[in-house]
Amino acid sequence: MKSVVIREPNNLVIEQRPLPVPAAGEVRVKVKLAGICGSDSHIYRGHNPFAKYPRVIGHEFFGIIDAVGDGVDKKRIGERVSVDPVISCGECYPCSIGKPNVCTSLVVLGVHRDGGFSQYATVPAKNAFTIPDAISDKHAVMIEPFTIAANVTGQAAPRENDVALIYGAGPMGLTTVQALKGVYNVKQIIVADRIDERLAMAKNCGADWVINNGQQSLQDFLAEKGLKPTLIVDAACHPSILQEAIGLASPAARIVLMGFSSDPCQIIQQGITGKELSIFSSRLNANKFPTVIEWLQKGLIDPDKLITHAFDYQHVIDAIEVFEKDQRKCCKVLLTFSDEQ
Ligand SMILES: [Zn+2]
Ligand SMILES: [Zn+2]
Repeated sequence: MKSVVIREPNNLVIEQRPLPVPAAGEVRVKVKLAGICGSDSHIYRGHNPFAKYPRVIGHEFFGIIDAVGDGVDKKRIGERVSVDPVISCGECYPCSIGKPNVCTSLVVLGVHRDGGFSQYATVPAKNAFTIPDAISDKHAVMIEPFTIAANVTGQAAPRENDVALIYGAGPMGLTTVQALKGVYNVKQIIVADRIDERLAMAKNCGADWVINNGQQSLQDFLAEKGLKPTLIVDAACHPSILQEAIGLASPAARIVLMGFSSDPCQIIQQGITGKELSIFSSRLNANKFPTVIEWLQKGLIDPDKLITHAFDYQHVIDAIEVFEKDQRKCCKVLLTFSDEQ
């Protein structure tokens, strides 16, 4: 089989590898579609501190089970599945309270262990979620990006009367907007970004107001419209955003952070306690695959609004470059895997 391997930073090759054999408790997935995410590009460029090389990247993928290891029901062969990349121990404190995404021995497919940019991948059977026939392949491969939004909304418990402010109209921001509008029916959603084309996507995903905060002051915009955000999500992930968000928030608001920066940010504590704000963080997803599968079955979200490109996996370098360089036209890029070995 062929696999997309990052041998070391900035060295990507398509390698011939032996067909993997599923271990006990695992299944082998014949990959059909995979999605490119920021963290794939970070591993490629050497910007992910958790990555070990060489590594098969890819943590958003969909395919068909074509073999099972010991202890796995053979009837699963032929199942259409999407794979949850979060592998956890099931026993530590975070696992025991339903947060396997921060398991003390967390393994993420495509980061700590070989992932899905490959014609075949072996994964724990419980990470391979059965996809109902009514959900298309293209929607199934988008489940993982939407679990990021499901995790955010799971933390913040949105209400219809929230005034939601989303920083960033990349895939994480846009899936969050769709969840807030489609699932939680939030009536007032504001999206701030510095790229007009991305703001147009945000409108298409359900934003009620969009603002280019590279050109206009967000504070002035909110004051003009009389909006006091009660739920703020930082999907732009810049360390300066938290302090601004604290200043803009309504009393009793919730703020959810997704940034992974190692740079310090300065915040004034009085701004938090003075309004009794709640600050949450959100990483990967905690058992959210069933949630997003249900959203798709009910038609509450539309992944098509995010998919802008598809490439054969053999053109993966072009695909990653489009993803990195063309933020105006490009949002989610899919890789297709053909049949030959
Ligand atoms: Zn991702
Ligand atoms: Zn654990």
